[in-house]
Amino acid sequence: MNDVYELYAIKYGETENRPMSENYIGGDPHDTSQNLAYFIWVATNNERTFVIDTGFNYEVAAARGRKLDRLPREGLDLIGIDAGKVEQVIITHLHYDHAGTFTDFGNARLHLQDSEMAMATGRCMCHAPLRLPYHVDDVCEMVRKVYAEQVDFHNGDQEIAPGISLHLCAGHAAGLQSVRVKTRRGWVMVASDATHLYMNFKDKKPFPIMVNMAEMMESWGKLIRLGDSIDHVVPGHDPKVLEYYPAADPKLEGIVARLDVAPKVSIA
Ligand SMILES: [Zn+2]
Repeated sequence: MNDVYELYAIKYGETENRPMSENYIGGDPHDTSQNLAYFIWVATNNERTFVIDTGFNYEVAAARGRKLDRLPREGLDLIGIDAGKVEQVIITHLHYDHAGTFTDFGNARLHLQDSEMAMATGRCMCHAPLRLPYHVDDVCEMVRKVYAEQVDFHNGDQEIAPGISLHLCAGHAAGLQSVRVKTRRGWVMVASDATHLYMNFKDKKPFPIMVNMAEMMESWGKLIRLGDSIDHVVPGHDPKVLEYYPAADPKLEGIVARLDVAPKVSIA
């Protein structure tokens, strides 16, 4: 039984000219831009492959003014993974930039928290600010996947395979789950949007989009406890991930980073 995984971050898009003040509650004294990168992640070994999140497509990128470099399934092609053959997909939460192209993974089981599905289909969606990060077509498609019995619901923390567990890290979204992955350098936390950027959790500066700030701040502590060190926590949208970690291949510099080897830079 192999419980140790190779772990990759694959960048599929980015924001352009995003003011740094939009990334921190209360703004930021640095009057500059700080763009977000959009990632999916993959944990894989000779027995199992888990894709973590499924990004968005060109239509949604245009509607939201985002730059899409490639479809998530095209990013997977770069490391030899065929989306149509993937059997396990973890959806960290249902925001448009995490749950957008899962219909490209037709054979996969989808792992989702109960509380996230409840929020995306319930009364909170009557309020525009809470609804904004969700794309109704994704949510409707997820309902179809429920009816097709392709969704595995989880309620809190859950091991789903040897060396892979889900951890409810709510706050940014009601049912945000981070993923703990056993790698050759130890336990790595794929935080997703439990922390968008290194500064959010390291300097305790909350990202402005949230449903519960208290829960979000508690989740930062959980990330640090569950990873082997602060350098084992991988934020959901920080372009620095691609600088800190080595490329999976020289040709994939700036696109695919290996998270199962130590970063070149410590944030400690
Ligand atoms: Zn996000």
